[in-house]
Amino acid sequence: MARYTGPVCKLCRREGLKLFLKGSRCLNKDKCSFEDRKSPPGLPPKKKGKVSEYSSQLREKQKVKRIYGVLEKQFRDYFEKANHMEGITGEILLQLLERRLDNVIYRMGFASSRAQSRNFINQGHVLVNGVRVNIPSFQIKVGDVVGFKDKFQKNQLIDLNIKFAQSLNRNPGWLTPDYSKITGEVISLPKREHVDLPVKEQVIVELYSK
Ligand code: SF4
Repeated sequence: MARYTGPVCKLCRREGLKLFLKGSRCLNKDKCSFEDRKSPPGLPPKKKGKVSEYSSQLREKQKVKRIYGVLEKQFRDYFEKANHMEGITGEILLQLLERRLDNVIYRMGFASSRAQSRNFINQGHVLVNGVRVNIPSFQIKVGDVVGFKDKFQKNQLIDLNIKFAQSLNRNPGWLTPDYSKITGEVISLPKREHVDLPVKEQVIVELYSK
């Protein structure tokens, strides 16, 4: 199945939640189509009666897939991997998604969205421990240092993204970006409290465990 290339704001409306898919635009009330509207356009009509358990589990899974920009097959593979690892499956599932290179660059503030991060990686601008990595799903580990090719470090987008990240003053907790060197280190694996997403991962586990 091909990656979704339609209007991304529609996905937020479909999930009834801001998924932050468009970078700085998402934080601008005047530009985010989800803000300032009691009933954002594009929302599916509210169904009368009780929402089925399956339906709410499905929505939860779709929400997480859309946030991280992964397809069904990839998502299923993450679940299978998490299911075979020690620990709470739902939390490990989120940890595997957080450890994707495209997410790490976004979390460090070098990209304004995971989609932009994927572009940087696909175009060959990203280095992990000094070696070019062009796989957005690449799993980072503790001690890895993420950076960019020399030429790309001067790119205007990187500069803008860093300024924006500094203005937000967010601390990813498990990552230490160094904006003066345009690199960042992974100091620990992400725990559930580092993942600031309103998702119920246990519900996804229940869905796949049927
Ligand atoms: Fe979603 Fe608003 Fe960002 Fe569009 S601008 S992707 S509606 S959060």
